[in-house]
Amino acid sequence: MAQILYTLAKQPNGQNGMSVGYADQVYVNLTNQCDCRCRFCIRGHHDGVGDADTLWHKQDPKLEEIKAAMDAFDFSGRKELVYCGYGEPTCALENLVESARYAKEKYGLRIRVNTNGLGNLYHGRDIVPMLAEVTDSISISLNAPNKEAYMEVTRPRFEDAFEGMLAFTAECAKRIPQVKMTVVDVLPENEIEDSRKLAQSLGVELRVRKFV
Ligand code: SF4
Repeated sequence: MAQILYTLAKQPNGQNGMSVGYADQVYVNLTNQCDCRCRFCIRGHHDGVGDADTLWHKQDPKLEEIKAAMDAFDFSGRKELVYCGYGEPTCALENLVESARYAKEKYGLRIRVNTNGLGNLYHGRDIVPMLAEVTDSISISLNAPNKEAYMEVTRPRFEDAFEGMLAFTAECAKRIPQVKMTVVDVLPENEIEDSRKLAQSLGVELRVRKFV
């Protein structure tokens, strides 16, 4: 059975060689739905990551199952719940928001969402106010500094995905305390710089992630 919660480091405080950041976090695998087909998606190469053998759900978990997985988990030493699974978490918006609310209230966890930023296009409405009710930080995949490269690498369902992702980011910047865009470090330096400028023009920081 696919794991709903998983970790990248088993022990708190980085004791097994992972950074303290990973050790503080627990990841939530809400859904396998996604509106992109990114060329680099880990789903094409591995069935699971960290301590999860498989992150492929036979059926996406229901809210009660997500809450039960939280109640069965030992959150000692963990500070942050990160919505980042084998799929795009905003595709399961209601379960994301309600389970995040539960985790904040019952376990005092910070909430981070890692997203492709296409949630407003997917739902056909502005979902940022709803996300902002529970989200402390959000990380949006920019992937490339221009539309052509973005469409080529992420292969999204929507023609206006690049513009939609930028508009989503600008809305997040107004309502969510910490907003970052990300690219991976395999981009050439000039594209990383262009990405940084683009992120700054939307009022957010760029984080350059290591490619795994
Ligand atoms: S948005 Fe994420 S889950 Fe979806 S295809 Fe891209 S990398 Fe994979």
